[in-house]
Amino acid sequence: MLSFEQARQLILENITPTGVEQVSLLDAVGRVVAHDMIAPWDMPLWDNSAMDGYAVRSTDCGQVPCRLKVTGYLPAGARGDGVVVEPGCAVRIMTGAPTPAGCDAVVPVEETDDGQQEVALLEPVKKGQHIRLRGEDVASGAVFVRAGAIVRPPEVNILANFGKAVVAVHRRPVVAILSTGDELIELGRTPGPGEIVNSNALSLAAAVMETGCIPRILGIARDDRESHLEKLREGLKADVLITSAGVSAGDRDLVRGVLDELGAGQIFWKVGVKPGGPTAFAIYGSTPVFSLPGNPVSTMITFEEFVRPALLKMLGQQRVLRPLFRAVLREDVQKKPGKVQIVRVRLEREGGRWFAGSAGNQQTAILKTMVDAQALAVLPADSGNFAAGDEVDVHFYGNYCDLMEAAR
Ligand code: AMP
Ligand code: MG
Repeated sequence: MLSFEQARQLILENITPTGVEQVSLLDAVGRVVAHDMIAPWDMPLWDNSAMDGYAVRSTDCGQVPCRLKVTGYLPAGARGDGVVVEPGCAVRIMTGAPTPAGCDAVVPVEETDDGQQEVALLEPVKKGQHIRLRGEDVASGAVFVRAGAIVRPPEVNILANFGKAVVAVHRRPVVAILSTGDELIELGRTPGPGEIVNSNALSLAAAVMETGCIPRILGIARDDRESHLEKLREGLKADVLITSAGVSAGDRDLVRGVLDELGAGQIFWKVGVKPGGPTAFAIYGSTPVFSLPGNPVSTMITFEEFVRPALLKMLGQQRVLRPLFRAVLREDVQKKPGKVQIVRVRLEREGGRWFAGSAGNQQTAILKTMVDAQALAVLPADSGNFAAGDEVDVHFYGNYCDLMEAAR
């Protein structure tokens, strides 16, 4: 059977980033920069003052207090050309103003008597102090935002500094979401006997939205070939298709058969992971098709482990897997060798280590444990039972913000 790691690798090998579009700077927020951004000029563009104070020659200020004649004034926005600091003189200067010729230090106003005609310097002066040098932030020609970076407020700021009103970002894939099953009803109706609300479509849409892709809910395919044909055909027009349920070995499990009929080439079916074993993956043209098991916990976990990295790669991100870190198990965990087992856990920080306790009943039908989980422990395929005190790999999942508090 295909291992968890092999399945992920096969998926990522078959995924390429989407094309590039130009969007306005604020529309780029949360999006992924498509190309390395090269500085068109030095930043800052000229040597300038880091303080409100006086531009001076440091050699004039050998011992303090010393007195200098004030011969000019440079507010922010002033052009410094033509202004010179002569020996024995100082020029009043405001933060950001270009430093005048001759000066090699700025003395903050707080270290002077704030004189207008003449100024007394009260503290020793070091050559170069409080001067920001041309290009010291970013030199012309240097990369200032890398391809693959997500646009956040700092990226917006530096892009704006370099005059980038539009930014090349990867296109956001449209992700079609199809639920299958005769038992399903849409949200808004109270389920009768045997009926289940199509909650997977909504939680998949939410998970797609969290990645930055665009969900398109297609509704429900009934457990017959015609309904599957119609809905899957529509879904294959999207950039990505995700189906839930109907992918096990039951006689009503039609998804794989109909996808095959439509020409979507299956890359794999069945993975050595619990939950999520029946997951299938196919490619139709350039559209990846993820067929996830229908059990809502399995659907969410397989999305997290298999679909999310693929969507992030399509969006142009370069680090698509959540970082793993080690945590000490609070309880024994029963496990048979052969498959990766994914356990929903809560985390606590104690004595510089993370501790992972079960988030609740681990049966795949238990949805509340998913709500309570802060992280998923990924137990390797080849190992058997774990004992309390063993260290395992975990990664964050879900509502883990409160953990940042715990970690302090
Ligand atoms: P299946 O994979 O078709 O055997 O479905 C497995 C379980 O998941 C069954 O209990 C289904 O009722 C449930 N299920 C399937 N699809 C959905 C859905 N869209 N939303 C919520 N539960 C579902
Ligand atoms: Mg079904």
